[in-house]
Amino acid sequence: MSEVIVIGGGIIGMLTARELHNAGVDVLVIERGPLGGESSWAGGGIISPLYPWRYSRSVNQLAEISKTIYPGLAQQLQDESGVDCELITSGLLFTSLEEQQQAENWAREWSVELQTVTDAQHIHEIEPQVSTAIETGLWLPDIMQIRNPKLVKAMKGSFDAVGIKYLEHTPVDGLVIEAGVIKGVNTASDTFTADKVIIASGAWSSGFIKGERNVAVEPVKGQMIMFRGEPGLIRRMVLSSGHYIIPRKDGRVLAGSTLERTGFDKTVTDVATVELRRAALEIIPALGDMEIERQWAGLRPGTEQGIPYICMHPEIDGLYINAGHYRNGVVLGAASVRLMAEMVLGQKPSIDPSPYALDAEH
Ligand SMILES: Cc1cc2nc3c(=O)[nH]c(=O)nc-3n(C[C@H](O)[C@H](O)[C@H](O)COP(=O)(O)OP(=O)(O)OC[C@H]3O[C@@H](n4cnc5c(N)ncnc54)[C@H](O)[C@@H]3O)c2cc1C
Repeated sequence: MSEVIVIGGGIIGMLTARELHNAGVDVLVIERGPLGGESSWAGGGIISPLYPWRYSRSVNQLAEISKTIYPGLAQQLQDESGVDCELITSGLLFTSLEEQQQAENWAREWSVELQTVTDAQHIHEIEPQVSTAIETGLWLPDIMQIRNPKLVKAMKGSFDAVGIKYLEHTPVDGLVIEAGVIKGVNTASDTFTADKVIIASGAWSSGFIKGERNVAVEPVKGQMIMFRGEPGLIRRMVLSSGHYIIPRKDGRVLAGSTLERTGFDKTVTDVATVELRRAALEIIPALGDMEIERQWAGLRPGTEQGIPYICMHPEIDGLYINAGHYRNGVVLGAASVRLMAEMVLGQKPSIDPSPYALDAEH
C-alpha cells in the first residue's frame, strides 16, 4: 500500500513523485519501460516554449514559474545523484522580426529580457556561426537549456539516493475503482493499492479512463538529429522558421524537430534526416562539415493548444492527472508538479488551477 501511485516515470511522473516525497508522502512510481525512456529522454530541453507569445497565459505562467525553479532543482539533483544535467544559459536567437510586436508585448508582460537585433554585425556577435544570410532577429539572452538524457538520469539517481520507490518494466493495465473511488492499479501480475493515483503517462495518458470524461492527449512524433561538433564552436540556441539548433556543452549539436501525427510509431525516416539537415545548414552552414552521429524520435503528449491537464478527475475520487504537456514538458514540468502536489495535499493552489481542469480547453 502506498499513499500515492504515479503511473508513468517520464519527467512529469518523476518530478511529481519527487515533489510529493519532499512533502513527506509515501509515493510509488510505476513505469512501463525504463524510467525516463520516452519523450522525456528524446526532447531538446529548451527551457522556454518555442514562440512563447503564441501560447496562452496559462502556458506562459507555468513556464515562467519553472524558469525560477530549474537552477535550484538542477543543483539539488546533482548533489543527490552526482549527475550534472548540464543546465546552461545559452540564450535563444529568433531569426525573424515578423512577430516583433507580439514578442515585445510578451517580454514586457513577463519581464523577460528581449533585444531586437537589426544589424548583421550584432547578430554575428551573438552567434558567429549563424548564416550570413541572417541579418535581423530577436535575442533572448536568459533562456536556459537542460540535457534531457542527463536530467532523467539525475532524477533516477536522486530516487535511489533519497529512497523514492519505483518499479520499471511494469506496465499498468488498468485502474481499480470501487463506487467512484480510486483504490489502486492493476499490472499483469499484481494489484497495487493506494489512496490516490496520478496519471502521468505522457502520450499514453488517454488509455486509463473509460467514457467521456477522459483526457484528450494524442502522440505527436518528433524526430531529431545530432551532429558531432567541437565544444564551443556554436554557443547559442537558434530558432528559424520552426527549426532549431541546440548546442550542447560537449560540442554535440541537436537539430529538430518534426511534428508528425502518425500514432504510436517511433520510426526514424530518411525524409526527416534530409529535411532536418537542410534546415540546420541554412541556420548554421558549418554544420555541413559535421557528421550526423545519431537520429531519434519521441512521442510528445499532444494537446490541441499545448495546455496540460493538471487536475483531479471530477467523477473518480482520488484520481489525478498531470499530462498533455505537448512540446513543453520540460519547461512546464517543474511548475505543473508543484500545482499537482498542492492539489494532492489538499493545499490552496498557488496559481489558478481552472485552465488545467479536465473540462477546460486544452
Ligand atoms: C523531439 C522532441 C523535442 C522536444 N523538445 C522540448 C523542449 O525543448 N522543451 C520542452 O520543454 N519540451 C520538449 N519536448 C516535449 C517534452 O519532451 C515532453 O512534453 C515531456 O517529455 C513529457 O513528459 P511526460 O513525462 O509527460 O511523458 P513521457 O516522457 O513520455 O513519459 C510518460 C511515461 O509513461 C510511461 N507509461 C505509458 N503508459 C504506461 C503504462 N500503462 N504503465 C506504466 N507506465 C506507462 C511511458 O513508458 C513513459 O515513460 C520535446 C519532445 C520531443 C519528442
